[in-house]
Amino acid sequence: MLHERLEPVYENVVQRNRGEDEFHQAVREVLESIGPVIDKHPEYAEQKIIERICEPERQIVFRVPWEDDRGEVQINRGFRVEFNSALGPYKGGLRFHPSVYQGIVKFLGFEQIFKNALTGQPIGGGKGGSDFDPKGRSDREVMRFCQSFMTELHRHIGEYTDVPAGDIGVGGREIGYLFGQYKRITNRYESGVLTGKHLSFGGARVRTEATGYGCAFFVQEMLAARGQSFDGKQVVVSGSGNVAIYTMAKVHQLGGTVVACSDSSGYVVDEKGIDVELIKQIKEVERGRIATYAERRPGAKFVAQRSVWEVPCDVAMPSATQNELTDADAAALIANGCIAVGEGANMPTTPEAVRSFQEAGVAFGPGKAANAGGVATSALEMQQNASRDSWSFEFTEKRLEEIMKDVHARCYATAAEYGMPGNYVAGANIAGFTNVADAMLRLGLV
Ligand code: NDP
Repeated sequence: MLHERLEPVYENVVQRNRGEDEFHQAVREVLESIGPVIDKHPEYAEQKIIERICEPERQIVFRVPWEDDRGEVQINRGFRVEFNSALGPYKGGLRFHPSVYQGIVKFLGFEQIFKNALTGQPIGGGKGGSDFDPKGRSDREVMRFCQSFMTELHRHIGEYTDVPAGDIGVGGREIGYLFGQYKRITNRYESGVLTGKHLSFGGARVRTEATGYGCAFFVQEMLAARGQSFDGKQVVVSGSGNVAIYTMAKVHQLGGTVVACSDSSGYVVDEKGIDVELIKQIKEVERGRIATYAERRPGAKFVAQRSVWEVPCDVAMPSATQNELTDADAAALIANGCIAVGEGANMPTTPEAVRSFQEAGVAFGPGKAANAGGVATSALEMQQNASRDSWSFEFTEKRLEEIMKDVHARCYATAAEYGMPGNYVAGANIAGFTNVADAMLRLGLV
């Protein structure tokens, strides 16, 4: 249900952004939480803060022409949505996936505003990407694509303006090619313009691991709030990319056992516990498919084209993509005794499924809070670049853990303050929103 003052705001967003379903969904989810905030702070409504937050400050759409290995010309579309810079330079990843269009980039950019605010770091919200599909492309094709993409993007970004990073389909390899081209075009060694860089050219330790590690830390805090821990818990993680891999690694360190993970072709079950090094070899080194895991690991089983959420578990950590965990999946998880869900991905749980979890009393950590460790560590990378410093793994991981504890505490306390104890969705949305809204009020009508 939407507050009466927010209903027309939402209707307007739908009218002005037709066909952008994921963006509508992300906006609605935030607006559903902030009704009580509008009652308490009518100045936000009077100054049209919500309408302003829903309209990106700037949207860039561009052609990305490049040549494949056969000499054929290919055309993709590039996007950067600079959503909100009240708290700092726009910050958020780039996604390369065939499903990318304006609506996906805007949903991700919108979520990013509140996530970044929750980290307590001085970063605004933005997101970008392309409908380019890196799957099956050679390294040289990926390089040529990245160079063409950056040839346009470079004029819109900078360490004080907009600082992109990785997301689906954009990892260390792509960030390297993008930074190389930025440096060539601008003739500036501006390390702080991109995060997720390799250590050899200004990257930060723990950035690769940060989103997954951070999500595991967040779930650990949710479990602790209920007098529990990861010890002896069976965990299912969806996906087998960057977020999934380091979620699994940290869950194992914290005493849980990950019994299943997936990719878009299906899932693998391994009752002994997923061998994370083998997944890394297959996914990061060979860029292969998840079925290979079952071929190489005795006792493991591959199940094609089914939902990983049918595997019984105590804790579910969706870490692949948006709307991958449906209401039917939530029903199966609840029936199997799942007690906690931590979203490693952005908006992986459908709104109906979120409601089912909350009604069943399952601790539910939304991505905005639970996966904020990635961008928080990107902000730490920016700090190191600005001071030309390089921190140790242990020190950086400690900072990440403290930030995630703090994010959890802020969500928990805010939910309680607004009379919704244990509701992390409300806590995250309200805490993130009020941070940004207060800064916007002070900055005047800009
Ligand atoms: P990767 O590209 O490294 O991995 C994505 C994984 O998800 C792959 O296993 C992929 O399988 C699977 N996947 C992608 N699309 C689909 C789909 N339509 N259906 C089923 N599976 C799919 O991306 P990341 O790990 O970086 O990102 C995963 C999620 O985490 C995204 O929602 C992203 O926005 C979010 N996130 C990432 C952060 C980061 O630091 N990287 C920070 C915060 C959030 P396949 O290979 O078969 O496509």
